[in-house]
Amino acid sequence: MNVVALIGSPVAHSLSPSIHRAAFATVPGEWAFVSFDVAAGRADAALDAMRTLGIKGLAVTTPHKEEVAAYVDEVDVAAAALRSVNTVAVTGDGHLIGYSTDGDGFVDGLRAEGVDPSGQAIVVLGAGGAARSIVEALGRARADRIAVVNRTPSRSDAASALADVAVAGTFADIATADIVVNATSVGMGTRDSPLPAGTVRAHQVVADIVYHPLETVLLAEGRAAGCRVVDGLTMLVHQAVRQQQLWTGTTPDASTLRAAAEDELASRSAGDTTDTLR
Ligand code: NAP
Repeated sequence: MNVVALIGSPVAHSLSPSIHRAAFATVPGEWAFVSFDVAAGRADAALDAMRTLGIKGLAVTTPHKEEVAAYVDEVDVAAAALRSVNTVAVTGDGHLIGYSTDGDGFVDGLRAEGVDPSGQAIVVLGAGGAARSIVEALGRARADRIAVVNRTPSRSDAASALADVAVAGTFADIATADIVVNATSVGMGTRDSPLPAGTVRAHQVVADIVYHPLETVLLAEGRAAGCRVVDGLTMLVHQAVRQQQLWTGTTPDASTLRAAAEDELASRSAGDTTDTLR
């Protein structure tokens, strides 16, 4: 039996077990996905347990992403830039490699929806962990320019340092953007939008990484304005596809993972909000 584990705190409401179990059902061999609530500051012990128990991979969520980045044997290019790891895979000789699949998962999701960020002017709303991973990956995906717009200006300065083409911006940058991305937590479990009504235009792509509700107010406004929209499950599923590639060496069908995530979301009440869903 191959075991992969989620570590974080809390983990009880994560969508990852449903998504990965659906993927494992399509992979050769026997795979199990388990969740461990690991207290803050104990990520090193969790990595030791991974080695001792022969666990094949980890999904890492809050509050362990930075600590895991410091304790694994190697990190990939995105995890090194972000100093944050959301995935650990083990090599044949027992090395633990840390990856950050969020940003590339976002880019994969855009491309799967027919949107190539290469050469595009992009506004990223937010400068937290998710926004930072997206800015870094959009830079490697050769975006033409990225304006990072955040409530707290010092954080937009730091996030924009992650890509050569990124700068700290303002809402005024949206007028000339091809793609507008909500990477704030605004709208998670609420009917709030990060933008004033009427901001986006029909020629723009509007992507929201918030996925609860799946049709956020921002996406509904974008759709009504005639924009192409990309919802938050798209990123979640495509970063999980990358995790599967790292753990199993196979590429599951994104639609299988998405169906599992949608089923899980549908089975939860509207009162189940916030970031603990991840
Ligand atoms: P985070 O590190 O806590 O960052 C939150 C961001 O939202 C910050 O930029 C923060 O601005 C901004 N923000 C929060 N409340 C705001 C408000 N009322 N007005 C304006 N800005 C506000 O969180 P994160 O890890 O980046 O996650 C952000 C969201 O993305 C969460 O809802 C999370 O569930 C979701 N997410 C989705 C995926 C996916 O795969 N779809 C992946 C990761 C995260 P300040 O800097 O000013 O505080």
